[in-house]
Amino acid sequence: IKILSKRANELKPSATLAISAKEKELKSQGVDVVGFGAGEPDFPTPIHIREAAKRSLDRGETFYTPVGGIPELKKAVCHRFSEDYGLEYKPADIVVSCGAKHTLYNIFQALVDQGDEVLVNAPYWVSYPEMVALAGGTAVIVPSEESDRFVPRLSEIEKRITGNTKAILLNSPSNPTGVVYPREILEGIAALAEKHDLLVISDEIYDKLIYSGNSAVSFASLPGMKERTVLVNGVSKSYAMTGFRIGYMASLNSALVRSVTDIQSQSTSNPNNTAQAAAVEALMGPQEEVGRMRAVFHARRDLFMRELGQIPGLSAVTPDGALYVFVNVSSFYGKRGIQNSMDFSSFLLEQYHLACVPGGPFGSEDHIRLSFCTSEEKIQKGLERLRKACEDLG
Ligand code: PLP
Repeated sequence: IKILSKRANELKPSATLAISAKEKELKSQGVDVVGFGAGEPDFPTPIHIREAAKRSLDRGETFYTPVGGIPELKKAVCHRFSEDYGLEYKPADIVVSCGAKHTLYNIFQALVDQGDEVLVNAPYWVSYPEMVALAGGTAVIVPSEESDRFVPRLSEIEKRITGNTKAILLNSPSNPTGVVYPREILEGIAALAEKHDLLVISDEIYDKLIYSGNSAVSFASLPGMKERTVLVNGVSKSYAMTGFRIGYMASLNSALVRSVTDIQSQSTSNPNNTAQAAAVEALMGPQEEVGRMRAVFHARRDLFMRELGQIPGLSAVTPDGALYVFVNVSSFYGKRGIQNSMDFSSFLLEQYHLACVPGGPFGSEDHIRLSFCTSEEKIQKGLERLRKACEDLG
């Protein structure tokens, strides 16, 4: 019998998870690998958040909750959007899911029909095109130029809008480039959404990790955009809570909110009860830790760029946000049989015990993604290995 569905056969597994599996395997063999692959803060979850999780367990909150999240968490999400952006939502506009990845998956399942198109700006987070495809739609890739700091051009977006375009997907600050879209670009995209009557799905998961001094602009806070925006965020990156698996969306469209909740009711049911209690504390409690972690990431980014600048043959746009540097390594292609980003990443991991992620699955074969979610000491050590590798390649 034919075991796998066409859908399953066509799916590409997450490249970021694949490389971290290989890294873990080497580490378990006792190899001293420096990991620039991970996309998660290396800080412990702030203590007051962990304490809240324990208190919830002690209160015996170990049962199913409402599918789309407990009322306290929906209120906490509204509170945070209001505090951060002056965006007023009602708890009924919120759905909480098992991580922002799950939120996005549900959204595409609810919005996308066979033949529908979603515009995705490249370089993009690996999961976007696959999630759109799993829903039966097509991700239409909008290229950007490194010389434009990976900010997409409005003309490139507009020329890809067709009668089948359903939504524009935005991710600022971006994984993998760290680009933070300037306000003018966001306003230009808003004008396009209005003109062509499109939805905008705005994944703002890195909004607390901006280093350029510009404050984050939530797409939903632009004039007239709240009605058109499906706002996505979560606690993973801002509060060092990746393992808790809590993400959420806000939308004024009650049919979408209902549909996402119904889809979730037939798949995972509610997100983890204890994790929801922890997320309430993260969003309502003191926010000082967020700023402290951001300052550490900022210092690491600066160190990273300083050291990287000393390595001949590499170039990178300084990331204004998120946790990654997207490094152009194409000047080494053709050497020692290295033809693409996967070859270069495998070469670094196998020969120099440096783990990073190939850019191909993010939409750019010229790049590799290095994350600075690790100590300054490890950054020094890892970049020393990268320098050695580049020197050896000549
Ligand atoms: N969106 C982007 C751009 C990401 O990089 C990630 C995680 O790597 C997510 C969403 C999902 O985060 P989580 O599912 O942990 O909330």
